[in-house]
Amino acid sequence: MTTIGERLLAVRARIEAAARVAGRDPAAVSLLAVSKTWPAAAVRAAAAAGQRAFGENYVQEGVEKIEALRDLALEWHFIGPLQSNKTRPVANAFDWVHGIDRVKIAERLSAQRDVHLPALNVCIQVNVSGEDSKSGVAPDEVAALAQAVAALPRLRLRGLMCIPEPTEDMALLRARFALLRLLRDELAGAGLELDTLSMGMSHDIEPAIAEGATIVRVGTAIFGERHKAAAAA
Ligand SMILES: *Cc1c(COP(=O)(O)O)cnc(C)c1O
Repeated sequence: MTTIGERLLAVRARIEAAARVAGRDPAAVSLLAVSKTWPAAAVRAAAAAGQRAFGENYVQEGVEKIEALRDLALEWHFIGPLQSNKTRPVANAFDWVHGIDRVKIAERLSAQRDVHLPALNVCIQVNVSGEDSKSGVAPDEVAALAQAVAALPRLRLRGLMCIPEPTEDMALLRARFALLRLLRDELAGAGLELDTLSMGMSHDIEPAIAEGATIVRVGTAIFGERHKAAAAA
């Protein structure tokens, strides 16, 4: 049986190989281990193998896991869809939020972030797949939202995030990731320097790194297949 530690090594090897092929420094790509639906014990096993950053999609499950793992110095990223009535626990338990696509959610997170904590790191989620995907702001609305989010006092706008439509077409995925990079570069031209491109999951780490990913979000390749019933909870 393959352990979490062994699968982590394999994922890190994929990241390094993809970075080399792209002529990039492997250290410029960080691995976010997506632990949604997996128990705190699985996170402990990954932490014992050297993994520090973890991603969660569901508010209550994530907050409970963070509480149960307080004894470890971990970094927590909220990567799921966020409703406005659930922003407060996310604002205070997590270090990062990746899926900002409305100014209202960003305003609430900024207002609710504890003043004793550092600013909350956030990424704007962009709908890079057009009609096929519902989450995320349209590409032509990114600049306005980015300026609004960057102005909020308790948030630190770090970059852009995307989840392309599910497909086996690696050339199409690469084009989606290239669009996110282009949008990030356009923001730099408008005076907003952002250091993060959160893109790439278990099956598309390679095209994401080829297009400049700085955070890849990987669940299945580390923890195994999730069970559908648990994922819906
Ligand atoms: C579940 C999830 C991931 C991880 O997906 P895998 O295919 O299991 O690697 C990454 N990002 C987001 C936003 C997710 O919801």
